[in-house]
Amino acid sequence: MQTKETKGLVLYNRNYREDDKLVKIFTETDGKRMFFVRHAGRSKLNSVIQPLTVADFIIKINNNGLSYIEDYKEVRLYKAIHDDLFILSYASYLSALADAAIADNTADPQLFAFLKKTLELMDNGLDYEILTHIFEVQILDRFGVGLNFHECAVCHRVGLPFDFSYKFSGLLCPEHYHEDIHRKHLDPNVPYLLDRFQNVSFEELQSISVKPEMKQKIRLFLDDIYDNYVGIHLKSKKFIDDLDKWGGLMKDSFQ
Ligand SMILES: [Zn+2]
Repeated sequence: MQTKETKGLVLYNRNYREDDKLVKIFTETDGKRMFFVRHAGRSKLNSVIQPLTVADFIIKINNNGLSYIEDYKEVRLYKAIHDDLFILSYASYLSALADAAIADNTADPQLFAFLKKTLELMDNGLDYEILTHIFEVQILDRFGVGLNFHECAVCHRVGLPFDFSYKFSGLLCPEHYHEDIHRKHLDPNVPYLLDRFQNVSFEELQSISVKPEMKQKIRLFLDDIYDNYVGIHLKSKKFIDDLDKWGGLMKDSFQ
């Protein structure tokens, strides 16, 4: 087994036998790995194996089984995320989505950096719903789903009030709406924003502002896309959906 140092993000931990834990960490250099922590309750590692903790881990990688954490430094805990149940539930969903999107034991430093940066921006108070939409759109290709929200699938023109078509797995311009009688009839701002989200840089994010009603339309369409092309059902996503319903009820009853 080789010892090395890598940045890592804790995805989750679970109990194992009496007092031991299995910890899944998304490492920058070695992808997602399962680590064994003996006597976790009494271990100095206990504080750094909590979900959504980022640290520099000194690890022993075992390619044929469980790996081990020897030590750690430079811990970062996302305080603002942990202080707010809504933000925490969205952040947990993104880490579960990253976990589902790639195979274990395979390095994906780009996805690691993207997830870490997205969580940092959430922690810094940027709109967590928009950050989630951007993450969901950009991670689609890790699920093998390549959707073009930029041009008409038939004539390739750009910058028009587009609609989405499952028949074409892409956009249709007004001239080609008739090619699919089952087109989605989206608000054209939805594909427009998804096109921006697909290509947005983190520097631009500060300037993106979307009204709640539009966020709701994007949410519904992304759910539809995930149902049709990705087909995963994460508990953390269901939790968000329930939380939103419950949050809506709370707001209604206070009005
Ligand atoms: Zn067209």
